[in-house]
Amino acid sequence: MTQPATVLELLDFPPGCDGDNCCERARVKCTIHLVDDCDHPEAVSGDEVVLLCQPCLARVLGQAQKFLRHTRKWRRQHCRVCFSPMVILSDIVREVEPL
Ligand SMILES: [Zn+2]
Ligand SMILES: [Zn+2]
Repeated sequence: MTQPATVLELLDFPPGCDGDNCCERARVKCTIHLVDDCDHPEAVSGDEVVLLCQPCLARVLGQAQKFLRHTRKWRRQHCRVCFSPMVILSDIVREVEPL
């Protein structure tokens, strides 16, 4: 006997985007470091995994870039909690995987 499919698979329900007020279909799985908040009890290894559509991914990358500009100005280029460097975009948006 084969493993029963999940309800979502049975319904062929596309994963929705996790972006605020967004009801697009998600296209990528994105792993984002919870900068300064990565000891959050629900965070998996300090990262948050979200499913995003392309426009929301672009928005998240833009926000991360803005954040990096700020930390450069403040001369604080690491996460306050885990002290990992926050210098380049992939320090914050650690993984983008197409769905
Ligand atoms: Zn979206
Ligand atoms: Zn951290």
